[in-house]
Amino acid sequence: MAGMKAVKEIFVYGPGPSSSHTIGPYNIAKDFREYLENKEVREIKATLFQSLAFTGRGHLTDQIIKKALEPYKVEVIFDTKTKTNHPNTLALEAFLQDGTSILKRYVSYGGGVFGLEGEKVKSDDIYPFSTFDELINEMAKAQTDDVFDILTKYEGKDLKEFGLDRLEKMFNVIEKGLSASSILPGNLKLKRVAGELNKRAEQIEDDFAKRTLLLSSFAYSTAEENASGDFIVTAPTCGSAGVVPAVLYYEYKVNNQPLEKLAPALIVGGMVGDFIKANASISGAVSGCQAEIGSATSMATASLCYLYNLSLHQIEYGAEVAMEHFLGLTCDPVEGYVQIPCIERNAMAAIHAYTAFLYAKEISKMRKNEVSFDNVVKAMKVTGDSLNYQYKETSLGGLAEVVKGPKKD
Ligand code: SF4
Repeated sequence: MAGMKAVKEIFVYGPGPSSSHTIGPYNIAKDFREYLENKEVREIKATLFQSLAFTGRGHLTDQIIKKALEPYKVEVIFDTKTKTNHPNTLALEAFLQDGTSILKRYVSYGGGVFGLEGEKVKSDDIYPFSTFDELINEMAKAQTDDVFDILTKYEGKDLKEFGLDRLEKMFNVIEKGLSASSILPGNLKLKRVAGELNKRAEQIEDDFAKRTLLLSSFAYSTAEENASGDFIVTAPTCGSAGVVPAVLYYEYKVNNQPLEKLAPALIVGGMVGDFIKANASISGAVSGCQAEIGSATSMATASLCYLYNLSLHQIEYGAEVAMEHFLGLTCDPVEGYVQIPCIERNAMAAIHAYTAFLYAKEISKMRKNEVSFDNVVKAMKVTGDSLNYQYKETSLGGLAEVVKGPKKD
């Protein structure tokens, strides 16, 4: 039985627009600074490889590295030719006044997690299980039917407090984004629409349309904040950070669900993301957008199922359905900006999460689901492994190949 890391690591607070391309490099640059303590640094060279090189400009990777290494002089090189073992490899080399240099090669794994190339990531497994089947056995042994009890047992009694803190940050991001009206950074010159969409949705009388557009406005809001390079909470990544907060904020604002109930629901959703991270990937550069938006949708659905007191079997059903219909989803951000298709995709995914929740609630009573959650994660992994690299956060295929942004100034 393989283990699994803390669910808390799924919800990282950091600078967007990409956990692997900004939070990871930001943390890497901070780590590199420690090697430079008491040294006289003349200049630093940062070399981005593969996915980091292909989409680094659009993902603001160069800017965040420079920011984290201020006030050092930093030159950033985008090396799209050299092959590395991991698509998100980054080399930092400091040239010192005495003529020597310090070189470290890092990998950004997604979710802000990083390590030195060739070394194992530092954080330890804290769970003795990493699949839904194993969780079911664990709950039977512990004689509990509340999955949050199991998570608290391994992560500590402060888990609910952690969930409340992350909810507060997520909701603040949504509220900030709803009052912003500007053009997103980058060549696409995309107008922010979350605030206006929210106002229009409030005027609509038709229930279905109102619900759909309100929920969408919340997802747009976080995704637009993320695209601006502002701080957001990964869920499980930056690019897909709008889905989980949108459904929980909708429950908070529209259905008056208390924060006390929403916090454990958020954590249970995080557990689903953790299962996917342990057995497949949550990184678009490794497995395409199915790993980001697919995972976020599974998480949001599991949160809704838990919030409405559905059984563990139904939580599994919902998380599975949510992922199943995103299998094969490619990562193809136009010009490397986490804007098209990412922002709209977050909103579509939030709606999809509600549908998956309703299927789990109703259809699960009519017949057994033939696809288990553990199997859909396996399917996501094999699909991701066989996806052409053009569809893994390189901006070389799909929409990125066909759609061109406006002419540069
Ligand atoms: S297409 Fe999906 S995986 Fe790729 S950057 Fe956008 S949200 Fe992330």
